[in-house]
Amino acid sequence: MNFNEFNLNKNLENAIAQKGFRKASDVQARTIPVVLQGQDAIVQARTGSGKTAAFSIPLLEKISKNPSFVQALVLVPTRELALQVHHEFSELAYGQRIYSVPVYGGASISAQQSQLRRGAHVIVATPGRLMDLMDRGWINLRAIKYVVLDEADKMFDMGFRDDIDFILSNCPSERQTLLFSATMPSDIISLVERHLKPDHVLVDVSRDKLSVEEIEQFFVRVDPKKRVSTLASLIKRRHMKKCLVFCQTQRTADWLSKNLSRHGIQAEAIHGGMRQGLRQSIVNSFKSNRAQVLVATNLLARGMDINDISHIINFDFPKERETYVHRIGRTARFGKKGEAVTFCTNVLEIQEMRRIQSHINAEVQELVEYGS
Ligand code: AMP
Repeated sequence: MNFNEFNLNKNLENAIAQKGFRKASDVQARTIPVVLQGQDAIVQARTGSGKTAAFSIPLLEKISKNPSFVQALVLVPTRELALQVHHEFSELAYGQRIYSVPVYGGASISAQQSQLRRGAHVIVATPGRLMDLMDRGWINLRAIKYVVLDEADKMFDMGFRDDIDFILSNCPSERQTLLFSATMPSDIISLVERHLKPDHVLVDVSRDKLSVEEIEQFFVRVDPKKRVSTLASLIKRRHMKKCLVFCQTQRTADWLSKNLSRHGIQAEAIHGGMRQGLRQSIVNSFKSNRAQVLVATNLLARGMDINDISHIINFDFPKERETYVHRIGRTARFGKKGEAVTFCTNVLEIQEMRRIQSHINAEVQELVEYGS
């Protein structure tokens, strides 16, 4: 579907073309008309499918430029996602004099205040910092017309449920509400549905192309003591150019990145124990290929849009199936190909690997030659 079929204004069409988008993705083709019509929606789509533009484009069409007041609120679970959504929105807003401000913890509150003072139409926020700014009287949501909850299930999982209730109770009830998520367990659906109008639309494009279809998936049986040397030889022998390695704890991430460096591999660690500024500069160095390997905790498993990741390694086996899908979804973004390798250190993990395989209906082959 071409973007001109949505009858968008010319400036917006130009900005979309500038971004290099030629055709609307599935989630965009199905969501944009629903949002333009003013309906509430729950959208289930994989990360990397173009979700951000699926809500940004119709919001840009609907938001009124003048006067400049906050009309749309996008709530996201993490700081990184706040910045990423803000950037994508700002690029799509190019030339339209519609401005977004990212509001997230770990960064100067006064800088965010002065950005808000300059005028914003959209706020992209993590719940904690938003409530802080509301408390100080710097943000008021009384004129909000549109609310987007991005990675909605994650926000509920992360314990933001009461915060979301509070924030939404401060928004007018006649607003339009949109919920986006790659996974939507049924208990979460029942929790989120009460924030939407009863006639909301369900858009589910997750089954159309099961999340992980373009990803070649493997597992390796590894002796726990040989995980680092196995990883190093995998990275070297399979020529992994841009590789994201997931582990469970911050300590393992730090320890592993140092160990890989000893094997002559340029690796950096990233996790929630680091300052926001440092986290951002590490992501940038990985994005610009200065580091070949990024070792991360689950902090990076969701929502992050880093292009061209060739390989995902699950150094620590993911605790939940959904985490597996989110982690490996960092590769093969937007139709590109990618590879994921999961380390299994015991029989239980191998059994779980088999269960994941049937759950996502994809083949996960054993890489016997690397096993130990
Ligand atoms: P998201 O799912 O929002 O994280 O988007 C993943 C990536 O796809 C981002 O880099 C977007 O800029 C890009 N993207 C979104 N929509 C399109 C499109 N219609 N054509 C090409 N790339 C797109």
